[in-house]
Amino acid sequence: MEMLTGISIKKTTYSKLKEVDFDNLEFGKYIADHMLVCDYYEGEWHQPKIVPFANLSLRPDTLALHYGQTVFEGMKAFRMEDGKVNIFRLDKHHDRFNRSLHRMCMPYMPEEIFSEGLKQLITLDNEWVPNQEGSSLYIRPFMYASEARLGVKPADEYRFIIFTSPVQSVFAKPIKVKVETEYIRAAKGGTGFAKCGGNYGGSFLPTQRAKQQGYDQVLWTVGKDKKFIEESGMMNAMFVINNTLITAPLSDSILDGVTRDSLLTLAQDIGITVEERAVSIDELKSAFFDEQITEAFGAGTAAVVAPIELIGIDDTGYKLPPYTEKSVLNILKHRLHLIRTGLVADRYKWNTVI
Ligand SMILES: *Cc1c(COP(=O)(O)O)cnc(C)c1O
Repeated sequence: MEMLTGISIKKTTYSKLKEVDFDNLEFGKYIADHMLVCDYYEGEWHQPKIVPFANLSLRPDTLALHYGQTVFEGMKAFRMEDGKVNIFRLDKHHDRFNRSLHRMCMPYMPEEIFSEGLKQLITLDNEWVPNQEGSSLYIRPFMYASEARLGVKPADEYRFIIFTSPVQSVFAKPIKVKVETEYIRAAKGGTGFAKCGGNYGGSFLPTQRAKQQGYDQVLWTVGKDKKFIEESGMMNAMFVINNTLITAPLSDSILDGVTRDSLLTLAQDIGITVEERAVSIDELKSAFFDEQITEAFGAGTAAVVAPIELIGIDDTGYKLPPYTEKSVLNILKHRLHLIRTGLVADRYKWNTVI
């Protein structure tokens, strides 16, 4: 066992790297050799360790399995032009992780464990970061209530884990979305802003129904009258109407997307008018009628941007015009790529280069 600034490392005796087809990285197919594990008990975090990726052993009364105290993050590391590795917006992800944890009554995750642990994990599994254009290493930090006890109350013990997976750029094939007006994913005062497990479990049934109706995803609406668009699946929703980039403002029912924030910043920078405001279903309909809406897309870490080709509102499909290199979504995606790979200067300090 080696020790590096308080993190013990146990290396795998059998690397699976040779089995990876880097030209064919189906999302989630390959998991890198190692994971970071850190336990919380007796009111504090204990020594993190890096160990070979392996099964967990859980007692059936593990609290997370029953009451849903689980929180995750999704982030990416990129191979840069000079061969170094860049963890994109590490601080913002760490910050959001803690906001989610706070809402779920789970303990604060210190920066030293999250950031140092991740840096060391990626240093060890450096060869798992793809070189292929558009590919990256997807990073999944998460925490769950690991205490085994029957009883509804916040746990006294938690486990934090980070594992990683090489992924390719999700092919930007335009998707069809359905404006969901029967189910909701989040409500004012609820947990919508937190990346906690239950939010996703609750979204599967409506999404499955939308798929049966020929859509890829739903566009969530909010409130009792469900008039305003919130976001889509695991992505924030953005529209270009009248040459203005519009997205819903942050609230406790919306996930504060890192991609959302990055794209809004880049858009403002290149002189695109940006509005963070509520978009109603009626506004969308009239924007289609007047042909003022030119783009609609989801923004999230996995896909970066997911262009939308059709929006279903009350059984009517509204078609977007085709996307080109000059579309706002492609311009923004390209600029983001240049920053992440070190091809242009990182003036926002978004990169953590290791
Ligand atoms: C993760 C997520 C997003 C996108 O956030 P990014 O930080 O850009 O990946 C948007 N909406 C929901 C519901 C999410 O879970």
